[in-house]
Amino acid sequence: MTSLAEIDNLNRRALLLYREKSVEAQTLAEEACVQAIGIGYQKGYLEGLVNHGRALTLQGGYQEAIALFNHTLMIAEENSLQALIADCLQEIARAHFTVSDYDLALQYWSRCLDISHSAHADETWLRALIGLGQIYLTHGDATSALSHHRWAMTSWKEGNDPTLYAGACINTGADLYEMGRLGEALEALAHAHGASCEQQAEIQTISGLILLTRGDLVAAENALKAAQQLNRTQGNALGLATNLLALARLAMLRNDLPGATDLLKRALDKAKSMGTQHLLLQIELALAETCEIRQDWQHALEHFKRYHALQQETQRRLAPYKLQAMEMQLEVEKARMENAQLRRKHANERQERHRVERMASEDALTGLLNRRGLEQSADSLLMATDIPVSALMIDVDHFKIINDTWGHEVGDKVLRQVAALLKSGCRQGDLVSRWGGEEFAVLLQNRDGPQGAEVAERLRRLVEGWTWERIAPEISVTISIGVAPCQADDDLASVFLLADEKLYEAKHAGRNQVKL
Ligand code: GH3
Ligand code: MG
Ligand code: MG
Repeated sequence: MTSLAEIDNLNRRALLLYREKSVEAQTLAEEACVQAIGIGYQKGYLEGLVNHGRALTLQGGYQEAIALFNHTLMIAEENSLQALIADCLQEIARAHFTVSDYDLALQYWSRCLDISHSAHADETWLRALIGLGQIYLTHGDATSALSHHRWAMTSWKEGNDPTLYAGACINTGADLYEMGRLGEALEALAHAHGASCEQQAEIQTISGLILLTRGDLVAAENALKAAQQLNRTQGNALGLATNLLALARLAMLRNDLPGATDLLKRALDKAKSMGTQHLLLQIELALAETCEIRQDWQHALEHFKRYHALQQETQRRLAPYKLQAMEMQLEVEKARMENAQLRRKHANERQERHRVERMASEDALTGLLNRRGLEQSADSLLMATDIPVSALMIDVDHFKIINDTWGHEVGDKVLRQVAALLKSGCRQGDLVSRWGGEEFAVLLQNRDGPQGAEVAERLRRLVEGWTWERIAPEISVTISIGVAPCQADDDLASVFLLADEKLYEAKHAGRNQVKL
């Protein structure tokens, strides 16, 4: 049996590793989730989900990561886990930012600022502040970006995560580089002690760009190659695309046009597949420049057009007035509550919540409804007064032996297959759910008790007769089922309690049978 400490340990390792070895971290996080589900350890499960999402983000799997974070956010909100809510908001904002959904990034980061502030989650607050600064930079407002990042530098306290201080310094460096203040930029980068591997790659990248601008091409190349190497070992897709762009600039300065074009095309592919708009924009501009140098006016014009279209698109995605509104928000934290923009934001969030609620009613392992999903759907089934309904409580026999003999993974496969068989043995309007662990609960529409027992017997035979050797040699699986009839005004809990008592009888009578 897994202990809570083992799951915590998996999560701790995933969190430590994800920036450097995202694939390994993902495996650890998935394992934490599976084990946490197995023993019903909610905190371990939620942490596992967030860590899984973080690893996916590093690999460029933003949409999938956002879905995971949203799912976690919903559960965190239900349980008022403030720090976790703030964490999820921050990760969602970061992912939206990377795929250039600036409007959403702004919304999530601004919510994150509020919540992390009231939850005293200093570090998350700092992350949000740094992120907001980055939105300004991508919108050409390096001055505001700089003021956010300097603010983050001065707000960092002894005892906070040192990589956060490094992050504030690096971003300050990037803002200053953008403003052409190269000496100050290098100075800011030099303050980034305690940078993580991922951040070291960023430092090398910005240093490389500064050296390029100063015309020290050899040193620039060394820095950029070092950055590339770091990003490669970490599997950091965004970092690599950024490096390709910088190396292309270097090739252009060396008049190596074919080399530059090749690097830009590779950067373009990467940036396109990630949907990272601010990078695409710069790549298109650089491509236009290479065409110009070759005096290939037609293609130059095409790239310029695309560059301008992207620029407009960026503006469209987040109009400048929203950024100004954000600036005010930071000054007058509370006054913005009356803002019409905010009302729209809440409407969006409601929509998002509905979507997430649907996701939260599903069991991750089997794809069946989970208990919560069953309870929600059952209301409408039970409300239709005159049709009889029967409830089945189903439990896999000696499942612990299956786990112990063939391992947890085979156990999971068995659960998925049992779920599939139950689903296939029921009708469309019936509700089939995973009640928890190796127990399933089913509500059969339009069946009284004896008819319910007939269906149960069919399900029992279906499971008994399936060729389980397909999953593992010499394995066999059976289920026991308790059946309870259900009247219109019965409440679900008492009906399933009765079905559970019948299930208990079936177990005691020797298992692999149905009791009504
Ligand atoms: P019985 O016939 O009396 O029901 O015996 P049993 O062994 O099936 O019942 P028991 O309650 O002792 O064991 C259930 C086991 O199911 C223990 C738990 O580790 C395992 N389990 C619960 N959820 C999962 C899961 O998601 N995956 C896997 N592989 N095992 C799970
Ligand atoms: Mg059981
Ligand atoms: Mg069992």
